Amino acid sequence: MSRVYNFSAGPSMMPEWVLKKASNEMLEYGATGQSVMEMSHRSKEYEAIIRSCESLLRELMNIPDNYKVLFLQGGASSQFAMIPLNLMTKNHKADYVTTGQWSKKAMAEAKRYGTVNEVASSADKTFSYIPDVDAMKFDPEADYVHITLNNTIYGTKWPKLPETGNVPLVADISSMALSEPLDVSKFGVLYAGAQKNMGPAGLTVVIIREDLIREPQEGTPTMFQYKIHADNGSMYNTPPTYSIYMCGLVCQWLKEEIGGLENMKKINEEKAAILYDFLDHSKLFKGTVEPGSLSLMNVPFVTGDEELDKKFVAESKAAGFVNLKGHRTVGGMRASIYNAMPVEGVKALVAFMKKFEEENA
Ligand SMILES: *Cc1c(COP(=O)(O)O)cnc(C)c1O
Repeated sequence: MSRVYNFSAGPSMMPEWVLKKASNEMLEYGATGQSVMEMSHRSKEYEAIIRSCESLLRELMNIPDNYKVLFLQGGASSQFAMIPLNLMTKNHKADYVTTGQWSKKAMAEAKRYGTVNEVASSADKTFSYIPDVDAMKFDPEADYVHITLNNTIYGTKWPKLPETGNVPLVADISSMALSEPLDVSKFGVLYAGAQKNMGPAGLTVVIIREDLIREPQEGTPTMFQYKIHADNGSMYNTPPTYSIYMCGLVCQWLKEEIGGLENMKKINEEKAAILYDFLDHSKLFKGTVEPGSLSLMNVPFVTGDEELDKKFVAESKAAGFVNLKGHRTVGGMRASIYNAMPVEGVKALVAFMKKFEEENA
């Protein structure tokens, strides 16, 4: 077997421990005589799987009791609409901070449902930094403030959370969920497409403070109402059963093999430091993000020469380092080093980059 080091931004690498366990349980889960994929979502066996996934998530993320965990579909992109439909219901206005493509898309969707105020943006420098958090002025009358905590495409992360007073903070954590501890009580809503760091594609996790689960805007489709999913324990319709099972295994791995999110954060910091240190000293490669806004998960870098970038992507792929091509809006390369990427994978990549630098400098 020769598994590659996969630096994809998503869907991305899964822990081998998880893949092996899923593989062992593929044909027969426990004593059920069937695969999890074949189970009725209403069966008591499946009920145990989804509730165990939820309780592991609650334990790992230290989610307070007054928050609901929802297992939905439609990706993080559906949340761009669900959030305004369900939350822009008092003063019909919300504050957005633009730190990349995803926050831009979230804001564009919200504009369909109410008044949107762009509080700050880093578009002027291709989203290579997070705007000054302390200088942001939020509208105390806004129904919520929306941010993208880790910007997958540009490799930036908020250095700290903004002070929004009594206005609920809503954050897209798709590309950093479970990568480090977060104080959930600081947020009104957290949401993530699972395919970056929580499991396979098809599952969207929403963590929402109970008082924000209210009557949505008139005309909101049933499937877009948080209340419907919360009242039905994410079983209003068929949930993404297998993806939830896999997310449960990822949580089990984090708890039993890694030892929780504090430990996961240390490992992620170690991996990121190896790569950033190399980029800081390289004569050929350089990072594209301003210090102070560096992501632990997504690391974009360039050589400054498009042809050389192409050559690097091709040669690295041949050597077993796949999906290093940067997003089309940034160019160059991007290494996504989510939870499942082992430290050895990052070390091996840096060794390969050193060799490429010697050969091409
Ligand atoms: C990938 C990603 C999205 C889009 O997720 P989908 O599940 O494909 O809709 C949104 N926001 C962030 C931060 C992402 O990384």
